Amino acid sequence: MPETDYQTDYLIIGAGALGLGFADQILTETDASLIIVDRHHAPGGHWNDAYPFVRLHQPSAFYGVGSRDLGSNQIDGSGINKGYYELASGAEVQTYFERLVKDRFLPSGRVRYLPLCEFREDGSIHSLASGKVFQVAVKKKIVDATFFNTAVPSVCPPAYEYASGVKLVPPNDLPREIEHHKHFTIVGGGKTGMDVAVWLLGNGVDQSAIRWIVPRDSWLINRETTQPGDQFYARFLGAKATQLECCARAESVEHLFELLERQGQLLRIDKNVRPTMYHNATIAPAEVELLAHIKDVIRLGRVERIGNTGIELQRGDVPAIENSLYIDCSASAISRRTNRQVFDGKTITIQMIRAGLFSLSASVIAHVEANYESDDEKNHLCMPLMMPNADTDWLVLNRAEGEILRRWSADKALRNWVGSHRLAGASLRSPDIEQTEAIKAIKLRIRDASEAAAANLDRLLNTLESAE
Ligand SMILES: Cc1cc2nc3c(=O)[nH]c(=O)nc-3n(C[C@H](O)[C@H](O)[C@H](O)COP(=O)(O)OP(=O)(O)OC[C@H]3O[C@@H](n4cnc5c(N)ncnc54)[C@H](O)[C@@H]3O)c2cc1C
Repeated sequence: MPETDYQTDYLIIGAGALGLGFADQILTETDASLIIVDRHHAPGGHWNDAYPFVRLHQPSAFYGVGSRDLGSNQIDGSGINKGYYELASGAEVQTYFERLVKDRFLPSGRVRYLPLCEFREDGSIHSLASGKVFQVAVKKKIVDATFFNTAVPSVCPPAYEYASGVKLVPPNDLPREIEHHKHFTIVGGGKTGMDVAVWLLGNGVDQSAIRWIVPRDSWLINRETTQPGDQFYARFLGAKATQLECCARAESVEHLFELLERQGQLLRIDKNVRPTMYHNATIAPAEVELLAHIKDVIRLGRVERIGNTGIELQRGDVPAIENSLYIDCSASAISRRTNRQVFDGKTITIQMIRAGLFSLSASVIAHVEANYESDDEKNHLCMPLMMPNADTDWLVLNRAEGEILRRWSADKALRNWVGSHRLAGASLRSPDIEQTEAIKAIKLRIRDASEAAAANLDRLLNTLESAE
């Protein structure tokens, strides 16, 4: 074998949260060797390209890898996330992954990390720095941790045109640009657009100086229902029970969203606009309140062209505001590809197997790889979930997740393993809490509502199908 070639048990493509999460769990549970290859110069995937004020959308307790905490699990005492568990900044996430590789992976002697290297379809690895081409002999499996193809604005040019006099920047440039502008136009209604709007308002920009182009309004997960520690556990588990009860009771899809909103499970920014989008995004009620202050919201579909005097959108044109700084937040973070089988012979494709819990999904897939034999058995436990897009995908996702949880509960060893995993929030819960009367009562509500919820979701999904 030539000098530049390597041998490994697992070849992992992608050193983002999913590739690193898989590697960490395999290191813990097996004595396998690993090669991790990534185009970026540092571990952390898309966090390398993120805007400077980005933060996780969910508590740090649910993010990263199984073997170490991210942050210090404090509850924020100030700011827009006050009263809730901390959300790591992009810089913290990058440092966390860098230290993971430097302090745990490399000293293990079992991991070779190849940054600035691209994996090509023919199985070769190309160094972007030296141009060298490597061949790797893979003894066990190739792990594709690139499935989501996460796109953030700084590396994803806008899909619309803009005239040469228009000043358009990704959110990365905003802190540098803010002092030179008196008006701001945010392009994009997803979580990045919301982050930018909250950041502008939080830094004292008046709502009247902000225009927001929102092609579709979104249903949002209430962050209050996704908190991990003891003090929130009844609310956290109670949210599951409430959602199942809403699913069981709903007379129609509209009625279901009405119930979920009334029960504080889903939020929306404008109560007069019915959302048609659902991307699993999580937000604090205080952020929603702040965002509702913005009155100049353009709801005419996607931007097609920004000119010096006007903006052309799918469903009409509006005059442009002179000297406005345009902030492009139109990249759709995660590609919505058709799911594949997670385990397929020599290939593992890491996907989301618990809704919104990407890191936990990667760890569970690695655990199943290390502890179960056949692909059929493994795929039964690791059923990929669709990445939601339309509002009604909430139903599809929740129906499928119900099935996954049923499969996991039928496997006692797996159920206990997941239940005690850091990324399931377990490190912030005391074991005794499960035995309290309040929690037992919520578990009974979950048990009582589950079957009716699944049946009614099937019925509602059928009505959607027949309406198509
Ligand atoms: C702003 C933002 C906030 C988020 N907050 C949360 C949160 O709070 N909680 C949560 O669970 N999720 C959150 N997410 C979702 C997030 O996308 C996932 O959690 C996770 O970070 C995705 O990781 P990944 O490994 O799939 O992708 P990436 O981070 O994109 O990593 C994939 C890597 O693969 C590399 N790669 C691709 N193709 C090749 C190739 N051919 N050869 C070599 N390398 C290749 C890329 O260079 C990249 O580094 C957030 C997403 C965004 C954009």
